[in-house]
This record gives sequence, C-alpha cells and structure tokens, in this order.
Amino acid sequence: MNYQSTRDTKASPSAVSSAEAIKKGLAPDKGLYMPTEIPHIDKDFIIRLVSLPYHKRAAEVLSLFLTDYDKDALAEDCRNAYGEDRFPGGAAPLRSIGDGTYSLELWHGPTCAFKDMALQIMPRLLSRALTMTGETKKARILVATSGDTGKAALEGYRDVDGVDITVFYPVDGVSPMQKRQMTTQLGSNVNVCAVRGNFDDAQNGVKAIFADENMAKEAEARSYFFSSANSINWGRLAPQIVYYFSAYCDLVCGGEITVGDSVNFCVPTGNFGNIFAAYIARMMGLPVKRLICASNSNCVLTDFIRSGVYDRTREFFKTVSPSMDILISSNLERLLFAAAGAEVTSECMKKLSECGKYRAPEDVMEKIRGVFAGYCCSEEETLATIKKVFNERGYLIDTHTAVAFGSYYKYANDTGDDTPCVIVSTASPYKFARDVSLALGKEPASDEPADILTSLEEVSQTSAPDPLKRTLTMPLRFTDVIDPADMAQYILEH
Ligand SMILES: *Cc1c(COP(=O)(O)O)cnc(C)c1O
Repeated sequence: MNYQSTRDTKASPSAVSSAEAIKKGLAPDKGLYMPTEIPHIDKDFIIRLVSLPYHKRAAEVLSLFLTDYDKDALAEDCRNAYGEDRFPGGAAPLRSIGDGTYSLELWHGPTCAFKDMALQIMPRLLSRALTMTGETKKARILVATSGDTGKAALEGYRDVDGVDITVFYPVDGVSPMQKRQMTTQLGSNVNVCAVRGNFDDAQNGVKAIFADENMAKEAEARSYFFSSANSINWGRLAPQIVYYFSAYCDLVCGGEITVGDSVNFCVPTGNFGNIFAAYIARMMGLPVKRLICASNSNCVLTDFIRSGVYDRTREFFKTVSPSMDILISSNLERLLFAAAGAEVTSECMKKLSECGKYRAPEDVMEKIRGVFAGYCCSEEETLATIKKVFNERGYLIDTHTAVAFGSYYKYANDTGDDTPCVIVSTASPYKFARDVSLALGKEPASDEPADILTSLEEVSQTSAPDPLKRTLTMPLRFTDVIDPADMAQYILEH
C-alpha cells in the first residue's frame, strides 16, 4: 500500500511506501501522508482478532497498512512494544462503567498517558524504515508537545540507535508532573527545552524548521535529517487504529455485543489524531455508528463540526486538560482529505494559513456530521464530571477523560442515543493529580508533585502508578527556556 500527500492535487499523485512516509513525517508540500486506499475488513477478520492478545491484534491491523514491512518483523515489534513489562495488566483494558458505557484505559504504559500506545512502537517502525530505505544519515526527531507526547516520545526513542530526539514544550502549558517527567528524562540521545508561548507557538516553530531548506542543508552537513514524532506522522497514527478494534473485540469477548453490532466512541480531542484513527477503523468496516468529538474550552472543533467554519482566530484558553489546549488540530486535514479529496483540502489549508480560518463545503460537512458529533465542556463542567463519576460510579478519571465523559453525557441527553459507547480514557488521573484532587474536594499541601500525588491517594483511596512515583526522586537534567524564534538555533547548537 502506498501513501500520498493530502495536498497533492495531481491527477496521478506521487506515492511513497509506508517506510518512506514514516521516515519523512511530513510530505514535501507540507501535506500529511494518507493511504491511497483504505483496506477493508470483514466479520471474519474481527472474529479472528477476538481470541488474540493485544500485541497480536496490533500486528494484524498494522500489517494491512504497512505492507512493505516484513510480517514477522512487525509481529516482533508489536510483541516488544506491548508486552507485560511495558504495559503491566494489558495494553488497552476496557472497563464497564454501567448503563452501556465503557472506559478504554490507554494509560497503562511507561508514561501513564495514551501516547505510549503509539510511541512505544513508532521508534521501532522508524528504525526499520531507515534500514528499508537505505538511509545512512541519523534521524533527528523534533517534537512539539503540550505535555504527554514529549514524555512518551522521549521514553520511546531514548537510546534507540540512529536517532536523536529534541522535545520543545510550552513553558507554562504543562502540568508540574509533566514538567518533572520531561526534565528528568534519562538517555544519551535526548534533549528537552521549554519555549515561551503556547503549544501552537512550539508546534509552528517545529513546522517552520521542517519547511526551512537552509535548516535541511545545515542538518545534511552534520549528517542528519529531521523527522517528526508528532501525530502528523503516519507511524503515530496507524498504531492508534488498533485499540478501536481491540475495544470492539473486548466487548464481543465480554458478551456485551455480538459481532456486527454498532458501537459509539467518545474521544477527548486535541490534535485530532486519536479520533481520526477511530474514523479510519470505521472506514475499514469496524461497526462504528457515531464518533463523539469531545473538546475543552478551546472548542474550535465543536464549532467546526456544528457550523462548518474552522476558525482559529480566537482566544486561547489554558485549561485543566492541557494536552487538548490546541487551536490548530493538524490531523483534521486528514479528515478533509478523506471526506473531500486533495483539491478541497489544499484550498482549506491555504486559507487557514493565510487568514486563520476557512469554511468547508456544505456537502462535505454533511458527510462529516453523518459520523461526528461535536461537544465541549467548560472548566466547571470538567471538574464536576470528575466528582460525579467518582461519587456515582466509584471510578476515578483524569481531566481529559472527564471532558469525554462530560461530552458523552451531553450527547446522550441531546440525542437519546443508547448505542453502547466506549469512552476513551487518555491519561492516568495521577498525571493531572492536582486538579483531580481539587475536583474531589481536597487541596494538596503544596505544588510539589509528591504532595500532589499523596493528596489524590488520600482522597480517592487509590494508589499512584509506579512510573510517576519514581520520577519524584530523579535529578533535573534539562532547564533551558528559550523564545520561539530561537528554536532553530537551539537545534543546531545541541
Ligand atoms: C494528546 C492527548 C489528547 C488528545 O489527543 P489527540 O490525538 O491530539 O486528539 C487527549 N488526552 C491526553 C491525555 C493526551 O495526551
């Protein structure tokens, strides 16, 4: 299977292999790579997956997209990425919450957030892609993060041969625990740097470096090239398709549904990568009725789905769900491409970069609204949802997951839709323990991560995950803070 840019409007678009797409990250015309066709599955495919463990489900689904990879090699990578040692208790466990709702817990990996699901395997895919494409230069991974990607990428890439990684994060845009996790990162090939500004400033800085021919030459002279680990890379997106299949299989396993029944997914959304993977699963033939796109007060996607106008020229809010504090949802470009093709996509993206907004054609919006429902939660609603779910269901959720639960309740109330719904849970509550603890009525003794974890342990009578407890005692390694304008210079110096 081959991949093309979402902005390639030629009658026969240039196509690259999946190894090439994963190596490059972004297409030369700044579009995102998409498969030229979507593989279709049938009931038998799902039935076959039902009895398999997660890593085998992953190998089955990934091999449909990464057709140039050796099947045994993929199986080995999946086994190494999703084993018990990295995901104790299983990679993507599904919990029943009651009343036809389920929580898909994607945070049992090394950094306690869902980005591990992709970033534990992506470095292995890239490493193989370098060999498969005969690459002799080193890959320099550049990451802009609103918190979780950075740590997950650092853990995934640390000490991987042939790769260096530099992570930029908005200086006041991540939680104390996220900051602590990144600034204590181990590994000989890692760099972490804070940027003054918000996530979009950091992401725009990284995008500008990718597009800068001079930077490419400077890198070439030093015998490396730039690559991305952000969710714009196909190697990030493909592994995320797997857990939608896995959740569906677990519902079948548990006797909650039979193969062929429809389910809904509700996904807390920022860059639109996670929910877009669900859309691909649906295009492949997984029986999914609706996708509920849940946003926080940065509700640019809710407005888009409802009005057809994507408008990033608005106030940016720092919220208690910082990994969703985004005004440019990069992967929405892939949805436009899937729904409308490259012509419409490139026009919209041109308008977005020139005016900060665009209106998608009405027929395209009708198609999108046939699948997606957009809902958002205010800060108050998010915190109230944490309390409600804990008190009524005895289930402890983080702030991002709370946006999804809150949005789901609004959706169910508005539509009366009682299709079984899987709510995607994207972070351990302990990763955002301060706000979760406050939501449950307990104020931590200080802003120190140790006090914050203790506070949540006490109020919820649960215990913090080991990987988070371990970071408390590790020394700080990375303390640089720079302006967005100095990002390129920083990369050349480090
Ligand atoms: C990244 C992230 C999200 C948003 O996922 P997207 O793929 O960017 O839409 C939601 N919750 C958490 C905890 C995250 O880290």
